[in-house]
Formats: sequence, C-alpha cells, structure tokens
Amino acid sequence: MYQVLFKINKFYRQKYFCSNFFPNFAVYTPKLHLVMTISKMWKNFGVAPLFTLLFTLLVSCASHRGAVPETFPFKFSDPNPHQLAGAKKYGIEPLEDRSELDRVKHRLKHVEECEYYAVDPLTHSVPYLTPEAAKLLKDIGKRFQKKLKQHKMGKHKIIVTSVLRTKDDVRKLMKVNSNAVSNSAHCRATTFDLSYRRFKHVEGAQANAAQMKYLLGEVLSELREKGRCSVIYETKQTCLHITVRQ
Ligand SMILES: [Zn+2]
Repeated sequence: MYQVLFKINKFYRQKYFCSNFFPNFAVYTPKLHLVMTISKMWKNFGVAPLFTLLFTLLVSCASHRGAVPETFPFKFSDPNPHQLAGAKKYGIEPLEDRSELDRVKHRLKHVEECEYYAVDPLTHSVPYLTPEAAKLLKDIGKRFQKKLKQHKMGKHKIIVTSVLRTKDDVRKLMKVNSNAVSNSAHCRATTFDLSYRRFKHVEGAQANAAQMKYLLGEVLSELREKGRCSVIYETKQTCLHITVRQ
C-alpha cells in the first residue's frame, strides 16, 4: 500500500515540481487522506477495523431502508391531571357554550385542512387552538409526511377528529362517549385528537395503515421527548389525545 502511495507522490512531484508538504506525500487531498487513514489502520490493526467499519455501514443502510414495523410499541399514558396542568397554564378559560366563542377567537388559530393535516366533520367541538397547539399540530403533520417520504411510502395526511370543546359540548358528549370527562383539556384550546386508524390518502401508493400508525407514534414519541406535548392513547375512540406543553 505504501509503495503505491509513494509512486503517486513521486508522480506529482515530477509533474508539478512541488515539494513534500507532508512527510510522505506531495499533494495532500481529501481522497489521499482517506487512503492514508485506511492504510494506517490496515498496518496498525489488521483487517478487523475495516470489516467492522464496512459492517456498520451496511447495517445502517439496511436499517434505513428496512420495512416499517406494523406494531405499536409506544406507551402514551400521560395522566389527565398532567395534561390539565399544561392546559390551564397555556390555554384559555373554559367557555360555557359556543356563543362565547367570539370573545376569544382573536387569540386562537382556526384549524382547517391544509397540506399537512385533514379535519373530520366536527360534531362535539369547534376548530380552534392556541397558536402553540396549532403549530404543534402542523409540525406533527410535517414530520409524519417526512417519514413517509423517507420510507418511500405514498403521501398521506393525519386526520384531526376533535379540537376545542365548550362545557356545553362536553355535557352532550358525555352522553355518548364514556371516555369524555367534564374537566377536559379540550376546553382550553390546547388539545386535539388525531385518528391512529385512518389517514387521508393524497398521492402515490396507498400505504399500510398499521405502518402509518407506527410512524405517527414515532413522531409523537420524538416530540414528547423534546417536552412539546403530552399524549394519551385512547382505545375506545381509536385516537391519540395530544396536549401542547408550551
Ligand atoms: Zn381527546
């Protein structure tokens, strides 16, 4: 190996009349540096580190291109009091009914279908969130689509199933949904629900719903780790109940 490098060195010296800048080599380029590093590793440690390097590269490439799991290993069970603490701190005072909405609308963002998410027809809530919660929703949609793209899956949107509830909405909902609670974070405009079973197809191949559920879980897990949200996995409503934490 060193003999070959020496010949390269000699060739450059003869052709360009330049002196040795480095002890052994006249022309020091990044490619030459890589060759030198590999040859030193070879000389000092044998072939083992080279094979380890090669194996690591292959494994990382394989895992990047590998199939997305169809399981859901994420444990999202942030308790309601924990969610409420954040909702009280960053949200609005609960509204008695929808007639009070005009009073607070100017402080909220209207939630409507965009490039990153779709919104179900809302029966027991109105489409308004605090600016921070609206940003969180958009970021979840963006990150979800980025993951789909990375895994070469068709483009889909997450679906919002519930947003801001007035006290009157909650009372009506409690008659049909045993999961609904009177003291809900949904009353503070800091909280929204996302379906984990349905996704809106946009373009490309229709993706596997279980795999999309996994990727949505991955996105929420990352944002939760960053302290941006609390999450509850709701089995009866087949949704993820998400409250912003800033
Ligand atoms: Zn909810």
